[in-house]
Amino acid sequence: MDEKKKHPALILMFGATGDLAKRKLYPALYQLYKKNDNFAVIGLARRPHTNLSFRELVGHSLSTEEAQIGAFLERFYYQSLDIEKPESFLALKELSDKLDVRYDLGGNRIFYLSLAPRFFAPAAQNIKKSGLTETSGWKHLIIEKPFGHDLTSAAALNDQLLQVFDEKEIYRIDHYLGKEMIQNIEALRFANPIFESVWNHRHISNVQITSSEMIGVGERASYYDQTGALLDMVQNHIMQMVALTAMEPPSRFDTEDIRDEKVKVFKSIRPISGHDIVNQVVKGQYIGGILPDGTEVRSYRNEENIKAESTTETYVAARFYIDNYRWSGVPFYIRTGKRMAAKSTQIVIQFKDIPQNPYFYHFEAVMPNLLVIHVQPDEGLSLKLNVKNFDQADSTIPISMNFCNNSKDANYNSDAYERLLSDCLKGDSTNFTRWDEVAYSWSLMDSIVAAWKEEHVPLDFYEAGSMGPSSADRLLARDGFHWWPLSETDPPIRA
Ligand code: NAP
Repeated sequence: MDEKKKHPALILMFGATGDLAKRKLYPALYQLYKKNDNFAVIGLARRPHTNLSFRELVGHSLSTEEAQIGAFLERFYYQSLDIEKPESFLALKELSDKLDVRYDLGGNRIFYLSLAPRFFAPAAQNIKKSGLTETSGWKHLIIEKPFGHDLTSAAALNDQLLQVFDEKEIYRIDHYLGKEMIQNIEALRFANPIFESVWNHRHISNVQITSSEMIGVGERASYYDQTGALLDMVQNHIMQMVALTAMEPPSRFDTEDIRDEKVKVFKSIRPISGHDIVNQVVKGQYIGGILPDGTEVRSYRNEENIKAESTTETYVAARFYIDNYRWSGVPFYIRTGKRMAAKSTQIVIQFKDIPQNPYFYHFEAVMPNLLVIHVQPDEGLSLKLNVKNFDQADSTIPISMNFCNNSKDANYNSDAYERLLSDCLKGDSTNFTRWDEVAYSWSLMDSIVAAWKEEHVPLDFYEAGSMGPSSADRLLARDGFHWWPLSETDPPIRA
C-alpha cells in the first residue's frame, strides 16, 4: 500500500447509478482520493454494468481530465443488486472480502444508502443477513434524507436500523451540516467574545433564517407533492440552522456534547399548538410569474406530475420562540420556498435598536446592526454598522464589513459531501444528526402538520419570482419587524 494513504475503508455505494451519486458523491470521492484517502468502492444498483462501464459512468460524472483519474477509477467495482432480493447480497460479501485484502482496508466498511427511503430498512436488514457487517474493522452506515415522514415512521425506521447498527455507527446526512458557513457558526460564536457576549435576548431583537430557491420542483415533482416545504426543508436543514445559532457553548467541543446542546434547543422550542398556528406559521404555494432573469414560469399546480388541485405547500414561514434564559422573547423567523426571487440561504441576526432619546443625537433613521451569515451561494459574513455621514455631522449612514469565503480560492471550494464523507471515513459524526435531534424536530413538525389539519390554515398563493406571500410579511409586521431584503443584507463581494 502507498505509505501516504490514510483512512482505509471499503465504500458500498447503494444507488450507485442515481442522480446523487453522479452529481455529488463521485466528485467528492475524487477530491478525497487526491487527498490520499485510501478507499475502494463497490457500486450497487439493479441495472447491469461491467466494472468497465461503471468506471466510465463514474468518470463522466467528474469534470476533470487530471492524470490521477485512471488510478482513481480503477478502485471502482460494480455489482448488480436488487435490495428486494436478499440472495443478490450473497456475492457481495465475497467481493467485499477480496477488495478488503487487495487494498489493505482493515475491514472498515461504509454502507452508503443513496436510495429511495423505502429501501433504507430492507437494505440494512439484508446487509446484516449477508454477513457484511461481520468485519474486523469498523462499520458505518450513511443514510440519506428523508429520515421518515413523521415521528412514528422515523422511529420505526430507527428501530430497524438499530437491529443492525449501533447509534454511533449511524451517520444521518443533513448536507447543510457539511456547508462551510454552517460549520463556521460555532467558530464565529465561540471564538469571538465580542459576539458571544451579546448573543442573547438583551442585545438581539430577532433572528431571520431564509433558504430560498429559484428552481421549481423539476424531476422531484411526485416526491415533493407528497412532502412539501415543511418536511423537505424545515424539519432538517432549517431546524439545524436554528439549533446551531441558538445553542449554548458546549463544555467540550466533542461530538456528543455539541449534539446535547442542540437537543436542548429543540427541547426549549415552544410547541405550536392548535389555535396559535394561524399567527405562527404561513403556508404558501406559487402561482405563475416571472423570475428575475425574465423567464416566465408556470404555477405549481400546472407543473408536470403535480395534481391540479394540490394543496402542498411550496413555501413556509414560521415564528419560533426558544423558551430558555438566553432567548427569552426573541422571535426566530424562518422561511423557505421554491420559485422565489433569489437563490439564497442566510441567517440574519438583528441587534436591538439604540435607546430612543430625541435629545441625544439625530439618530432617527439609524439602521439596526445586522450580522449576516451567508451560507449559499455566497459564503461569508457581513456586519452592518453605522458611521457618521461623511458630509453631515448629525446623521449616520450604514456601512458593511464583509468577509467572503468563496472568493479565496476561485478554482476549488470543497463541497459539503466531501467534508461529510471525509468525516465519516475518520469516524467523526459531529456533523451528522443524532436520533434524538431528529425525533425532537419531527415532533415539532408533527404538531404543525396536525394544527394545519385541524385549523384549516389557508394556503396563501405567491407569484413565482417574489419572496413569498404577503401573509409572511404580516407575520413579522405584527411584532414590529420586517424581513430584511436580500439587497440590504449585502452578500459579500467576490474577489
Ligand atoms: P435516483 O436518481 O432515483 O437513484 C436511485 C438509485 O437507486 C439508482 O441507482 C437506482 O438504480 C437504485 N435503485 C432503485 N431501486 C433499486 C432496487 N430495488 N435495488 C437496488 N437499487 C435500486 O435517486 P437520487 O436522486 O440519487 O436519491 C438517492 C437518495 O438521496 C434519496 O434518498 C434522496 O432523497 C436523497 N437525496 C438526493 C438528492 C439529489 O440531489 N439527488 C439530494 C438530497 C437527498 P437502478 O434503477 O439501476 O436499480
